[in-house]
Amino acid sequence: MSAVSKYPITVAYGDGIGPEIMTATLSILEAAGAQIAPEVIEIGEKVYLAGHPTGIPDHAWESLRRTQIFLKAPITTPQGGGYKSLNVTIRKTMGLYANVRPCMSYYPFIQTKHPTLDVVIIRENEEDLYGGIEHRQTTDVYQCLKLISRPGCEKIIRYAFEYARQNGRKKVSAFSKDKIMEFTDGFFHQIFNEIAQDYPGIEYEHQSLDTGTAKLTDTPQAFDVIVIPNLYGDILSDVVAQITTGSIGLGGSSNVGDSCVMFEAIHGSAPTIAGQDLANPSGLLLAAVMMLVQIGQPAVAQTIHNAWLRTIEAGIHTGDIYREGVSQQRVGTQAFSQAVIARLGQNPEKLKPVSYLAPADKGFQFSYQRPQVSRELTGVDVYLDWKSEDAAALGKQMSEVQGDLNLELITNLGVVVWPQAFPETRRSDHWHCRFIGQNEAVIRSDQISALLRRIDAAGFDFIKTENLYRIDGVPAYSG
Ligand code: NAD
Repeated sequence: MSAVSKYPITVAYGDGIGPEIMTATLSILEAAGAQIAPEVIEIGEKVYLAGHPTGIPDHAWESLRRTQIFLKAPITTPQGGGYKSLNVTIRKTMGLYANVRPCMSYYPFIQTKHPTLDVVIIRENEEDLYGGIEHRQTTDVYQCLKLISRPGCEKIIRYAFEYARQNGRKKVSAFSKDKIMEFTDGFFHQIFNEIAQDYPGIEYEHQSLDTGTAKLTDTPQAFDVIVIPNLYGDILSDVVAQITTGSIGLGGSSNVGDSCVMFEAIHGSAPTIAGQDLANPSGLLLAAVMMLVQIGQPAVAQTIHNAWLRTIEAGIHTGDIYREGVSQQRVGTQAFSQAVIARLGQNPEKLKPVSYLAPADKGFQFSYQRPQVSRELTGVDVYLDWKSEDAAALGKQMSEVQGDLNLELITNLGVVVWPQAFPETRRSDHWHCRFIGQNEAVIRSDQISALLRRIDAAGFDFIKTENLYRIDGVPAYSG
């Protein structure tokens, strides 16, 4: 018999409850016969405090690049001191574009308001407001840039439809706020509608973020797979995890890239219960189950997942899910993992057993072709730091320096205050003046530099400009 080679994986024990739940998880994997060769890296709080602002040292990156599979316990980000989120750094550096969170109810063994909830949330992981591009522009006003790209939208939306297809899911719902953000969320919605046409067997719908979230918390059984931009997904996935079972201790997730995949629990390092054998290791264990499927050990994944379901069914519960009258035995982290190990080889009797043995269809290859567009420069938005509240006076002075461009309008915090204004409209020190070519003609960039020189010479403090384009004949900016 030939020896089975062990699959190298990178493991981080993390902070807070991390070491306890990782030890429990790895002991179950070992008992179930998982063929893995963990390479342990140190990341997180100690590394931050030793002077690495990202919380991850160079040798850890080497391990991640080599193994491409990362089982990570939660880490603590120290407060203050400008420490960057380690999760965001790893996701962006390793190109982990999709965050996948399966959320399921385990009724009647774990109390829940939604006994039949079974939803997978696929959150875009790299773009949106997470670019961390922020500025203080004036005394009063701060900005954060929301960047959404065509390949980013195409990739996450296609991933969601492929996930649905490969996992026998029937419907994909996209959530966005496209009525308010026509050029970012509106684009996400448009790409969603386009890509849905390639999957005729899968139902699709778009939900407005607000009403869709309300519907999801009320009737989650109406949803199957959800695809959602980064920030909204961050919030929504925690909401769903909480309403599923009342504990975030049960959720596992994967962060998928083209070559590297990171697996982790959805919760944090729970420092207040650390070191007390109280933590539920289930979230990390279910993430490890996803990992075993990914690395081609589906039989072990299935054995562990079914033993875990059997344990939950037997009422052997950690404190976060223990309920008098429903649970049978309140256990700590270690005893819970021993209970799972004792049930390896058993299937649940009431909950539905899982099966990972069908040949996995891993045929998702993303390719992107940048479309050809025609782009014409038609104007410029100039932002000013101006401490007066007199919009009419600003309109007069900007008209005097407009030269061969036309001052079209002035807004303050997005509300038009020139040529017409309501006296009630609040005014900040952040003014936006829109100049366009005469008769909507195409303009040259030197007309913009000349305009800025005139604005400067008139004593105004411009803080930013944004070029205005017509793309494929359509104005490519909000009105
Ligand atoms: P948290 O998820 O650590 O804790 C929220 C609540 O859930 C707490 O009451 C906690 O005791 C409980 N809880 C969490 N996991 C549990 C488990 N497995 N078993 C039982 N109870 C559990 O969130 P937080 O308190 O906002 O954050 C604590 C730290 O974790 C912070 O430093 C934060 O930056 C970090 N964090 C890390 C990650 C990550 O590494 N992926 C994610 C979120 C938060």
